[in-house]
Amino acid sequence: VITSRQGPHLRLAGGGAGIINFCANNYLGLSSHPEVIRAAVEALEKFGAGLSSVRFICGTQSIHKDLEEKIARFHQREDAILYASCFDANAGIFEALLTPEDAVLSDELNHASIIDGIRLCKANKYRYKHMDMQDLEAKLKEAQKHRLRLVATDGAFSMDGDIAPLREICQLAQKYDALVFIDECHATGFLGPNGRGTDELLGVMDKVTIINSTLGKALGGAAGGYTTGPKPLIDLLRQRSRPYLFSNSLPPAVVGCASKALDLLMESNAIAQSMAAKTQRFRSKMTAAGFTISGKDHPICPVMLGDARLASVMAEDMLNRGIYVIGFSYPVVPKGKARIRVQISAVHSDEDIDRCVEAFTEVGRKHGALP
Ligand code: PLP
Repeated sequence: VITSRQGPHLRLAGGGAGIINFCANNYLGLSSHPEVIRAAVEALEKFGAGLSSVRFICGTQSIHKDLEEKIARFHQREDAILYASCFDANAGIFEALLTPEDAVLSDELNHASIIDGIRLCKANKYRYKHMDMQDLEAKLKEAQKHRLRLVATDGAFSMDGDIAPLREICQLAQKYDALVFIDECHATGFLGPNGRGTDELLGVMDKVTIINSTLGKALGGAAGGYTTGPKPLIDLLRQRSRPYLFSNSLPPAVVGCASKALDLLMESNAIAQSMAAKTQRFRSKMTAAGFTISGKDHPICPVMLGDARLASVMAEDMLNRGIYVIGFSYPVVPKGKARIRVQISAVHSDEDIDRCVEAFTEVGRKHGALP
């Protein structure tokens, strides 16, 4: 239990102080950025604690409209719609968009919220092997009989730190007349030259039709999610998407945080670059120490250990050395692929990164993960 703000250095209940946090989705360190906090306080004072209403009754303030416009501009899309979370955005979109005449093709390792969103819709469901383009092509061929095809994938996968092959996915989508949907929760704000996400990184911003993402990770870390894409789609979601229609509006303080986070990112990409440099430092030092780090260039750096018990005792021992990391094992990841997931943030210092690598090396030797 944390008794301080979210950040690179935490205080924990029971007295632990100066703990270095390596397991938050706070990729850009904006969760406790002074300007983000100030923007939240100002929005709270001017617009109140909350709306006590869903958006379409009396729950839309000027700041909600401004944030939607800003999100669309950030992603270079026509329009955007806010939700209480990205889980809600994923729960709302498939059912609103797809009918029993349509098909959705989903990567087998997509986030739980995409899987649940797809469960709620009546479209024909195809699950393709993780990032396997041959399998996707085979499924797209099979799905030609349907009216509309939607390929759904995480842009960056949160357990492995790997990035969907969007160029190839978009080529296949073009060939087989499908739309592409990406979940950018682990990409928005920091992947690509200007932090726009996986579609920018891979040069397919004009080919991905729909983006869902969160305000609860890199963009200030408070809460909230959104869909951005073509205006007719956003109009449809405002009419039909159940989590949007039947759940309370985002509170003003939360809107203020996200809006300021986007301003900071649109002014400069220095924060994202700093995170990328620290990610590189961690990945190269850990690899040199003898560890296997899954994924490539992503701040999600899974230290692959295999054995579930090893991951759990090593994570515990890391905390004893002041490094907060978490072990993941089955059923969160496949059997035999247990790991400790390290997440790098722009607000880690080089010294923090080096201390983490040193602790891993000591703990890895102690438990036989390193020779
Ligand atoms: N999609 C992905 C890939 C995620 O990692 C998460 C969060 O864990 C979500 C969706 C849900 O986002 P939110 O926390 O905004 O509901």
